[in-house]
Amino acid sequence: MTTQPGVYGYSAVLMGSPILLKLFDSNPSLARQVFQLIKQQENLFTVNRADSAVMAINQAAGQRAVVVSEPVFELIRVAHAVSLLPDSAFNLTIGPVVKRWKIGFQGRTVPPAEEISALLRLTDPHQVVLDADARSVMLRQPGMEIDLGAIAKGYIADVVQAFLRQQGVTQALINLGGNVQTLGAPPHEPAGWQIGLKTPFASDDALLGVLQVKEKSVVTSGIYERYFLQDERCWHHIFDPRTGYPLDNELLSVTVIADRSLDGDIYTTLLYGMGVARGLAYVASRADLDVIFVTRDRQIVCSAPRHFRFQQQDFSWRLRY
Ligand code: ADP
Ligand code: MG
Ligand code: MG
Repeated sequence: MTTQPGVYGYSAVLMGSPILLKLFDSNPSLARQVFQLIKQQENLFTVNRADSAVMAINQAAGQRAVVVSEPVFELIRVAHAVSLLPDSAFNLTIGPVVKRWKIGFQGRTVPPAEEISALLRLTDPHQVVLDADARSVMLRQPGMEIDLGAIAKGYIADVVQAFLRQQGVTQALINLGGNVQTLGAPPHEPAGWQIGLKTPFASDDALLGVLQVKEKSVVTSGIYERYFLQDERCWHHIFDPRTGYPLDNELLSVTVIADRSLDGDIYTTLLYGMGVARGLAYVASRADLDVIFVTRDRQIVCSAPRHFRFQQQDFSWRLRY
């Protein structure tokens, strides 16, 4: 499939998302290797398959420690550390809450409040025991479940970027659905890759504007990706670990621009929990991160843009820096 002259686009559906790889040489065999790599990585981290490494840990919850491979241990170690940050909106043990809400699957309804508070007792990240020497992970309470859904795609996007680099590719884009990772810039657009920022709750091709980046990852997490409507409210898939309910603040989406897509994933969730005011103050102290918040009152709020440019397209939203 060719999208523009000289651009070779390869697509697949993996991890429940359409995946797009853009290259500047026709190389179907490289594309096949990339898609295989993604599938193999997904099989390590998914909780939708009984035989993944993460499921082995979950199935042994309350019973025993499970030895895992180096990359799995490392990703869990990072997720655990982020979960233990003060007032963190990220929680790697959110699994039981995510499963109960079933957002994006059949049979989703708002669970009774007593059930949610009972499940919250199974989401304490202090109850995860990591042993770096043994490379093992143990969940202390039966019923606890690790869910790496918020960061697996970012990790995998970085693995794909490293693989392409190692294959000598200098200009490429991989889009894992919400996680875009890039190498260099396209030959015909030296100013950078053009990455659309979706209009919340609109049709797929409606854009608020376009970001331009070089050799950066762009990660968006939005409440409009997976949700259902009940009692005139939007119940979405980013949970507040303190309440067990979907995060309820002024935000519709958070986009993070960073070198690593894993950081993009971590910080979209953390910044989601911080909201606009605290989030902007935080990002001002981080030279390596930029952020774009999209709010319920139709504003697009950007941090001082160090690593991207933004061209607004929909002027019915207010853009501010
Ligand atoms: P996706 O890229 O699939 O849309 P996101 O990156 O937006 O996913 O993260 C949402 C997913 O992260 C949820 O489906 C769930 O698996 C997991 N999750 C939800 N809330 C939290 C949380 N507070 N901390 C960590 N993981 C979460
Ligand atoms: Mg994601
Ligand atoms: Mg997302």
